[in-house]
Amino acid sequence: MNNKLYGNLIFELSKAGRKGYSLPQNLYQHSTSELPATLCRKQEAQLPECDEMTVVRHYTNLSHNNFGVNDGFYPLGSCTMKYNPAINEEIAAMKMFTGLHPLQPAETCQHALELYFRLQESLAELTGLSEFTLNPCAGAHGELTGLMVIRAYHESRGDHQRTKVIIPDSAHGTNPASAAVCGLEIVEVKSNTEGLVDVEDLKRLVEQEGPNIAAMMMTNPNTLGIFEHAIPEITKLIHDAGGLMYYDGANLNPMLGACRPGDMGFDVMHINLHKTFSTPHGGGGPGSGPVGVRAGLEAFLPTPRVVFRDDMFRVETTEPQSLGSIGAFLGNFGVMIKAYVYILSLGREHIKEVGPLATLNANYIKESLKDVYELPIEGLCKHEFVFDGLKDKSTGVTTMDVAKRLLDYGYHAPTIYFPLLFHESLMIEPTENESKDTIDGFIHVMRQIAEEAKTDPELVKTAPHTTPIGRVDDVLAAKHPIVTYKQMLNDTN
Ligand SMILES: *Cc1c(COP(=O)(O)O)cnc(C)c1O
Repeated sequence: MNNKLYGNLIFELSKAGRKGYSLPQNLYQHSTSELPATLCRKQEAQLPECDEMTVVRHYTNLSHNNFGVNDGFYPLGSCTMKYNPAINEEIAAMKMFTGLHPLQPAETCQHALELYFRLQESLAELTGLSEFTLNPCAGAHGELTGLMVIRAYHESRGDHQRTKVIIPDSAHGTNPASAAVCGLEIVEVKSNTEGLVDVEDLKRLVEQEGPNIAAMMMTNPNTLGIFEHAIPEITKLIHDAGGLMYYDGANLNPMLGACRPGDMGFDVMHINLHKTFSTPHGGGGPGSGPVGVRAGLEAFLPTPRVVFRDDMFRVETTEPQSLGSIGAFLGNFGVMIKAYVYILSLGREHIKEVGPLATLNANYIKESLKDVYELPIEGLCKHEFVFDGLKDKSTGVTTMDVAKRLLDYGYHAPTIYFPLLFHESLMIEPTENESKDTIDGFIHVMRQIAEEAKTDPELVKTAPHTTPIGRVDDVLAAKHPIVTYKQMLNDTN
């Protein structure tokens, strides 16, 4: 590859007067000059001037520097980097969906509203809850919405003092963040040595905080990929104290078709459509974090909602107890189309295989590598698990080194240094999408890296060797970020 070409900015490739198109001469001179002078530029826009091939090659080469699920195995724990089947993308790109305007009358877009409505219903059925809103645009946005529902519920009963949320120390960082944004106070419950919620610690907190508890947030399987088997006891404790149970469903993948949060006693939950239901994500979007509630809490959900009444799908905006609007229009519709296609293409029968397959894949990798990587918590995991670095600590090769070396072999690195419960966390989530060959290839490479750590540790410590950019200095990059073109020019001059 021509390093010089793709290393340049498009502005540096500019040559004055060069164009990527030629248009016929304008025969209608008068039509261009009617804009008021105050709206016109004083000078020409400073845009790069390039021919079409330069532009196409520039961006194509840049795109080769990225790594996505379509390039290779992407076992990024806690993120469920699921393949988005081509048919999802094709259907989401159909003109009948992309040509819609959010303000057009309901009778002109019944097909889209029907899809929206049926997705609401499918999610309710898959989770055992009563009703879903598809409005939130991310998992964290869903958490905030769900907690607002919980607040509204307590407020409606005059329970104004319920302002505390119990959150496990292993929770995803968005949980305490959402609670804080919702104006709630966070009370942390400890994990025990098995990586599960410490029920004794929880009992102490419930005793202490009783009438002030608004909710407890739980992730199941938790961030270590372990099923919280004390849930019946935990939900009873919280319900008896008058609090509600919130289920962070970003890890719903291994549960799909196997069990339902509603049946476990949860009152409110969110789902990450962009994880469990296949939309590609990362880099900030697009996402969708639908929120579901059990019977009795529906009235508090935000609006607009899509309902079916008098033989027609309708967008409802007036609900007296509703939170009102939490975002623009009905949410990220493209993500919903992909999620609905994913559900339909698996069907009632095969969707049951998602959870068990994701679980089997994760356990297979764990068991195949635990003799060379440190497994801090033994036993069955769900869709993901955590190693605490290499087993042989004498080589000085760290989790960071292993992650960088994986790039040389064409694999995306797992999540590293999260969760914070261990020093050298390496969190692996294969999802149900991968073939046995791909997974065996990954296992082989992980073993190879463990071997290299012993025989040639420098090779691993200086990786990656094959990527366009080698190892970046994380600290310098964080402390001295170069975020503008001018800054870069100043730095290199
Ligand atoms: C990804 C994730 C979230 C947050 O979802 P976003 O869409 O990134 O806001 C919350 N909780 C858990 C457990 C997650 O894995």
